[in-house]
Amino acid sequence: MILFDRVTKKYGKKGLALDRVSLHIAPKEFVLIVGASGAGKSTLLKLLTREEKPTAGKIVVGGIDYDQLKDREIPLLRRKIGTIYQDFKLLPNRTVFENIAFALEIVGMTSKEINFTVPRVIDLVGLNGKEKSFPKELSGGEQQRVAIARAVVRQPKILIADEPTGNLDPKHAWDVVAVLEKINQHGTTVLMTTHNQDIVKKLKRRVITIDGGRISNDTSVKAGAK
Ligand code: ADP
Repeated sequence: MILFDRVTKKYGKKGLALDRVSLHIAPKEFVLIVGASGAGKSTLLKLLTREEKPTAGKIVVGGIDYDQLKDREIPLLRRKIGTIYQDFKLLPNRTVFENIAFALEIVGMTSKEINFTVPRVIDLVGLNGKEKSFPKELSGGEQQRVAIARAVVRQPKILIADEPTGNLDPKHAWDVVAVLEKINQHGTTVLMTTHNQDIVKKLKRRVITIDGGRISNDTSVKAGAK
């Protein structure tokens, strides 16, 4: 469902961030993307969300050929792709419930539907009882779980997590990874960048290594493993 065919991204004339990257990610995969800082990981994710356009090459996601994508279709594309980041990006003056509800309000959902849907994702990420808390009253791990809830409440096909555990201590990092695994088990494709070697080793998922804008290694786990 995610296809990159010889995708190159240059920022300006010199900044070669990705160099003819080809990859295929099947629906419902959980893929870790690793590589040193500056390797091109975020660029790869930004090409997926259409925050950046490739300099050359083809990108097809869920049957949508990005070459054919019109600007007015981008909001619809982004509803199919949830995103979370290292710094959570929550609205500080809104409660947990309101932060998640906001993602539904902006697509015109009624309050009845919102009141039905939001408690279900709060339950999914294990934040029952925290509905009325504000972000600053939560731990980093809890804040990231609110961000995940907000990202998945519209049931995207793909969840992009750019260094989601970067600001968290190991325990909270694993809480967040556990929630991402659960979401993956519900059928969402998960792409996650990480510098955390412990997570890479223990998770036993496909790992794509990017080095200097190229894929230097791609391991997928054999059948029978998790
Ligand atoms: P990573 O996420 O692996 O740290 P990035 O994709 O952010 O790597 O960056 C890859 C390369 O592209 C780096 O050399 C970086 O400096 C460059 N780069 C990233 N974003 C921009 C930008 N907006 N303008 C110019 N150069 C950029």
